[in-house]
Amino acid sequence: MDLNFTPEEQAFRAEIRQWVADHLPKDISHKVHHALRLNKDDLQRWARILGKQGWHGWAWPRQFGGPGWNAVQRHLFEEECALAGAPRVVPFGPVMVAPVIMAFGSREQQERHLPGIMSGDVWWSQGYSEPGSGSDLASVKTRAEKRGDTYIVNGQKTWTTLGQYGDWIFCLVRTDASVKPQAGISFLLIDMKSPGVTVRPIIMLDGEHEVNEVFFDNVEVPAENLVGEENKGWTYAKYLLAHERTNIADVNRGKRELERLKRIAKAEGVYEDARFRDQIALLEVDIVALEMMVLRVLSAEKSGKQSLDVAGLLKIRGSEIQQRYTELMMLAAGPYATPFIQEAMEAGWQGDQVGAAHCAPLASHYFNYRKTTIYGGSNEVQRNIVAQTVLG
Ligand SMILES: Cc1cc2nc3c(=O)[nH]c(=O)nc-3n(C[C@H](O)[C@H](O)[C@H](O)COP(=O)(O)OP(=O)(O)OC[C@H]3O[C@@H](n4cnc5c(N)ncnc54)[C@H](O)[C@@H]3O)c2cc1C
Repeated sequence: MDLNFTPEEQAFRAEIRQWVADHLPKDISHKVHHALRLNKDDLQRWARILGKQGWHGWAWPRQFGGPGWNAVQRHLFEEECALAGAPRVVPFGPVMVAPVIMAFGSREQQERHLPGIMSGDVWWSQGYSEPGSGSDLASVKTRAEKRGDTYIVNGQKTWTTLGQYGDWIFCLVRTDASVKPQAGISFLLIDMKSPGVTVRPIIMLDGEHEVNEVFFDNVEVPAENLVGEENKGWTYAKYLLAHERTNIADVNRGKRELERLKRIAKAEGVYEDARFRDQIALLEVDIVALEMMVLRVLSAEKSGKQSLDVAGLLKIRGSEIQQRYTELMMLAAGPYATPFIQEAMEAGWQGDQVGAAHCAPLASHYFNYRKTTIYGGSNEVQRNIVAQTVLG
């Protein structure tokens, strides 16, 4: 196993670094480096810049308009973007539904949907979870009844991230209630502007509108929007979840935020405290260990071996690390981080100085990150899956 990058890979990294330096808008990277609120315009602006270069689907094969990079090149691209302060690409289109459409969708679906995802123009949402169907996802109840060439959809999805901006939503729907739960699910693409679709906000612990409830009331969906075969949706859903969990680990963001933690600790004077430095060192060791795990996966892929099945492990460790750095930032800032000031998330509110104004967004950031051990499949459930895989 060789974990070092070759000279060609290093040259590739340098090329990407230069491109990102030339193209990433400064106002956006400022917000990312200071954990400020990113609005729809920020996210879509960056998506379109990537799309113009053919990199919004950076993991896509050439055949579907992607750059055709190998696993190492994809990793280097992600790392360079994260370290430069690029926003995390909203994954629902390019990282989640696109691979499903490529693997299981019809040629018409590929031609219709992939270009809009690549260009960053069409915003996708994920309609998996329902009230009562989160960890037990196979119990989804949203019904899709076929009448002629149309499915009539009724039910409710929940926790739909950024669904308030959604143009399209990919949904798990029940098409057969008479068989075991997994065998009666289908994967449907639904235009969110269809009559009968209602999106209602859920306000999170940090006061932000990031998630939603989505209601379907006799929504008519053309049967041609069914992906693959009817009642085979569970297979496609699981294929998508592996992409989601690997993406959530986001070790590169961890590296960037570690540097931010060090900056805050130095500015606030606690970096001199050996006990606090111990905490930072422990976090750094865990981030390096997570990175090694990612590099092992890449090395296995590079040498043509079957990729290690570690999506669940990456999700658990990555999300725990994300929560730890937000906790340490709060500790580093001490009383300055305690007030919960929503306006502090706005760019320009706080300036770059140390102290109260600088630390004001930290509480929001801390509250927001409680989500990471829940979404994408809770960590408790991931532990069950890992235990089953390892212990049988
Ligand atoms: C911020 C945020 C964004 C999200 N975005 C989306 C989205 O865009 N689209 C989407 O479809 N979903 C989304 N989700 C939903 C997410 O996938 C679910 O919240 C998650 O799968 C957990 O399901 P649940 O909330 O129903 O909790 P439950 O399944 O009710 O679990 C409650 C608790 O019980 C534990 N538990 C449940 N079963 C077991 C078990 N078998 N063994 C041990 N412990 C167990 C869980 O770990 C958890 O602590 C989002 C969630 C959040 C918080």
